[in-house]
Amino acid sequence: MQPFAFARATDADAAIQWAAGASTAQQGAEVRFVAGGTTLIDLMKLDVERPHQVVDINHLPLAEVESTPEGGLKIGALVRNADLAHHPAVQRDYAVLSQALLAGASGQLRNMATTGGNLLQRTRCVYFRDTGMPCNKREPGSGCAAIEGYNRNLAILGTSQHCIATNPSDMNVALTALEATVVIRGAHGERRVPIGEFFLLPGDTPHQETVMMPGDLITHVILPPPRQGARSHYLKLRDRASYEFALASAAVVLAVEGGKVAHARVALGGVGTRPWRSPEAERVLQGRPATPATFAIAAKAALHDARPQSQNGFKIDLAQRCLAHALATAAA
Ligand SMILES: Cc1cc2nc3c(=O)[nH]c(=O)nc-3n(C[C@H](O)[C@H](O)[C@H](O)COP(=O)(O)OP(=O)(O)OC[C@H]3O[C@@H](n4cnc5c(N)ncnc54)[C@H](O)[C@@H]3O)c2cc1C
Ligand code: SF4
Repeated sequence: MQPFAFARATDADAAIQWAAGASTAQQGAEVRFVAGGTTLIDLMKLDVERPHQVVDINHLPLAEVESTPEGGLKIGALVRNADLAHHPAVQRDYAVLSQALLAGASGQLRNMATTGGNLLQRTRCVYFRDTGMPCNKREPGSGCAAIEGYNRNLAILGTSQHCIATNPSDMNVALTALEATVVIRGAHGERRVPIGEFFLLPGDTPHQETVMMPGDLITHVILPPPRQGARSHYLKLRDRASYEFALASAAVVLAVEGGKVAHARVALGGVGTRPWRSPEAERVLQGRPATPATFAIAAKAALHDARPQSQNGFKIDLAQRCLAHALATAAA
């Protein structure tokens, strides 16, 4: 692990100025905020993340879940995954989010992991975590060891010739189906980014994973008001029943009126280079009878553009079944 300076922030603006200032004072200096530390510290030990300065943000007042005037929810970036999953308003109105959080990691990790940190967790591609191997995401221009190597767990949607890594988060899939907004504060003020625009496709710059700029701090995530009469569900398929990342997962929000789908939001996990919203599946569902036949057609549409690698062709069928099952459960 490379030596680093450590500071503790008690004020959001000071933390942002600190991060922006440190990068300016020392050319190329990397500054990282640390929240739960369950991603960052791991990667620092592996020498994958090599910040010069670590700023502890745990004392910032960002650990509250509040109602918004519109009837939605404002979630502080430091709300722990366990607290969010068990929050009564989340369990009542956003079940898909609670289920996704509880499907992730382990009890101890969820007690530490935060909303902001979960949004920004890094891929679990084994080559990203191994500094002895080429990886365009870790070291731009070095190559991608996964394309010709071990790629069973990696993406089949949104890949490029430079990176095929999946976004590993469960929470991010639920937030995508719920059409959340990420509130970011930076050196030039606050901006609100719809989750569909927050994550970037790898293209030829896989090291740029989100729209976050150096010194940016996530302060909140905002959920819109729950849709009247809608039900939601998260289904995660993996190699073992706990403490394992998704091979395929589906987050769905579905409203059925008179036996027909009146509203559908669909996102997939474990198969995309970013949490994968499927407008194709949503279009198929809208206005059709809420039946297994419709759900199967929607699932096929969601995977239409899939491009499997040498070891992960099985994910197409798996993700289709996962989505069809999640839709049927939400509709039941
Ligand atoms: C063994 C293991 C199994 C796991 N299994 C799963 C799983 O099945 N599903 C799943 O979804 N996840 C899983 N995880 C990942 C876990 O959910 C994440 O590590 C966790 O959510 C990260 O949150 P954190 O607060 O600890 O982030 P940190 O490690 O503190 O930070 C992560 C990144 O976010 C940045 N950051 C944090 N907060 C902010 C902020 N407010 N503003 C700007 N930048 C910020 C940090 O600088 C860092 O770059 C697993 C992790 C481990 C170690
Ligand atoms: S898939 Fe992406 S993260 Fe994995 S080795 Fe290739 S470039 Fe690196």
